Amino acid sequence: MSTSRDDYLKTIFELGGADSHVSNKAISENLGISPASVTEMINKMQADDTVEYIPYKGTKLSEEGKLQGAKLVRRHRLWEVFLYDKLDYSWENVHDEAEVLEHNVSDFFIEKLADFLGEPKYCPHGGAIPDEEGHMPSESQKPLTDFSAGDTIRIQRVTDDKEFLMYFDKLGLKIGKKYELKEIESFTNDYVLEKKGNDFAVNLAAAKHIFVDDEN
Ligand SMILES: [Zn+2]
Repeated sequence: MSTSRDDYLKTIFELGGADSHVSNKAISENLGISPASVTEMINKMQADDTVEYIPYKGTKLSEEGKLQGAKLVRRHRLWEVFLYDKLDYSWENVHDEAEVLEHNVSDFFIEKLADFLGEPKYCPHGGAIPDEEGHMPSESQKPLTDFSAGDTIRIQRVTDDKEFLMYFDKLGLKIGKKYELKEIESFTNDYVLEKKGNDFAVNLAAAKHIFVDDEN
């Protein structure tokens, strides 16, 4: 399956490309596509003014690209809410299905869907849903790896990676809940979170997928 311009727009948006430059390496890793193909597509997108590319700095969305990216993210996340809330999908399975559904309906349908779902603000993974005009609340969360022992954090968002989500569930952590970062194990690099006397050892790879607010 080839990766479309829409996938690029959405990925750049999700990597923060609405506000700052995203490296082509990050885009290539996220989409699982060779750096050469990414460069080729970015050149095309620059030609149609959806992105601006600066050598050694990376790619940022233009105003038009931002708007298109936000609309795609809105479609994707609304479908995720529908699958999760109404069809009882587990949260690691909504992404792939939403990926297919988002391309196949009209804007009119998407607004009907938003209305039916009660205008949700977040997807099941804690990602904010842009409004109809493409506005999105700015997100202040940082990855768990930016914090130190003794900090109090609240888990706000996790990345939409299937293997990771299954691991997160197995650990028993919950989105929206507050934890204390008890210690960072020097040998295993585990981030040990604590809540009411229970410890949750999160390995380093997973800690990079967990975005939290500072509750200190
Ligand atoms: Zn999501």
